[in-house]
Amino acid sequence: MSSQEADITLPTGKKIKVPTGLFINNEFVNSVDNKFFETINPASGKVITTVAEASERDVDIAVEAAVEAFKEWRCVSPSERGRLINKLADLMERDLDDLAALEALNSGKVYQECKKNDIISAISCYRYYAGWSDKIHGKTVDTMHDEFAYIRREPVGVCGVIIPWNFPLITQAWKLAPALACGNTVVFKSSEFTPLTALKASALFKEAGFPKGVVNVVNGFGDPTGIAISRHMKVDKITFTGSTATGRLILKASAESNMKKVSLELGGKSPNIIFADSDLDQAVKWAHMGIFYNHGQCCCAGSRVYVEDKAYDEFLKKFKEHTEKIKIGDPFDDDTYQGPQISKQQFDNKILHLLRIMSYIETGKKEGAKCLTGGERHGNQGYFIKPTIFTDVNEKMTIMQEEIFGPVVAIAKFSSIEEVVEKANLTKYGLAAAVFTNDITRAFRISNELKAGTVWVNCYNLFDSNTPFGGYKESGVGRDLGKYALNEYTQIKTVHINLGVKM
Ligand code: NAD
Repeated sequence: MSSQEADITLPTGKKIKVPTGLFINNEFVNSVDNKFFETINPASGKVITTVAEASERDVDIAVEAAVEAFKEWRCVSPSERGRLINKLADLMERDLDDLAALEALNSGKVYQECKKNDIISAISCYRYYAGWSDKIHGKTVDTMHDEFAYIRREPVGVCGVIIPWNFPLITQAWKLAPALACGNTVVFKSSEFTPLTALKASALFKEAGFPKGVVNVVNGFGDPTGIAISRHMKVDKITFTGSTATGRLILKASAESNMKKVSLELGGKSPNIIFADSDLDQAVKWAHMGIFYNHGQCCCAGSRVYVEDKAYDEFLKKFKEHTEKIKIGDPFDDDTYQGPQISKQQFDNKILHLLRIMSYIETGKKEGAKCLTGGERHGNQGYFIKPTIFTDVNEKMTIMQEEIFGPVVAIAKFSSIEEVVEKANLTKYGLAAAVFTNDITRAFRISNELKAGTVWVNCYNLFDSNTPFGGYKESGVGRDLGKYALNEYTQIKTVHINLGVKM
């Protein structure tokens, strides 16, 4: 490891070294302008360390490294690619505790959850796509001519990967695992709020034996780093997870540069529909996890809960009780369920024209919704917000239409299937939805009618590397996960071989 590293004492007491440079051609290097930015612990608001910030010129250097590496990496045997990805997964398993603690320190996520879920999910995603590496086949095709035609699946080339802060290592795995399995090289940017675990993982890519230039990491802000990647003429594809507003800019950047392929996983305002015939105690627990998991910072958060009128009062009573029981606090305490929001910006009232969590809460109150519980800051340091329940809401309210991305849920009543399906489909988003009922016919019927890329029946937030994830409408373009994601990282070539056609 170069001198580009910080000594960090984790809240678990362990001291670890974390690279802080840019990662290009398997080396940690300074940015050309020697610029750095601070990364913060959201539980305390204090600086953890500084990391190198990539300029447009640094992105150029990283892209050149990825272009060069692609020439050889695309020819590396598929089984060898799979072996390397599996080796990376082994190393992540070895370092699971450190990765989990660093993830929790930098993002405010709950440490136990990072250990039990995030890092393990990331590892299983790498293993899943390691398995795909040597199973990505083309086809032969019979045509009307005397010829032999075949179709190849080829890697796209250099993939620009830009992700947010809410599940850093998982989202990195969702993108890098299929990209690498398919034979692409990568220029990766994590969120400016959570650069540390991607840097730690960079060292593992090198240790696993990935050739230089196959994975490059350039941290920095949307402007200039993200923009430089998405406008770059030698980046062949962008895979992005983040807000719908930024997704729009990335599509535009593609259109105005080299028409690079784009896949987008964007925001959501997911409806969760609860019928009176469901197991209400279970529905309360799933709905609670559906919105408050990861402090409400999930793209698929079930932020609009619709409860059948017959069960509304009982559901609300139980849901409020359950919500008020959960512990907010230090992400490293074993019994904490909810840690801080990611940043002051996300917590605070207003940045430029964008509303953030506290100002959404104020807007909800002003527009006439009733704040049943929460609605205010928790504690006096870091960025904690009490889990907040709004009732007496209608579809016109801002809090029923816009993604809040925090621990805020709106609960409404419905009386018929037609009414609730219409309301559920009313926002510009279409990422996920859920239905709770014991009537299987109703469950199927509603699942088919909901405009959402994922529907959970009698559960919430279940994910698997095997099942695709992505959005209808303004929630995205393309799919992560499953074999469907392979389409995003390959392109199709048809080859015609003349067996006797004469001119
Ligand atoms: P964001 O769009 O502000 O930032 C995401 C990433 O894009 C960051 O790395 C940022 O630096 C970069 N970026 C910002 N401006 C850019 C630009 N002009 N060009 C290129 N890159 C740019 O989102 P965020 O606040 O980090 O994350 C929250 C959003 O992400 C929410 O809307 C959430 O729903 C969404 N999200 C979606 C999914 C999904 O799978 N659909 C998953 C997680 C988060």
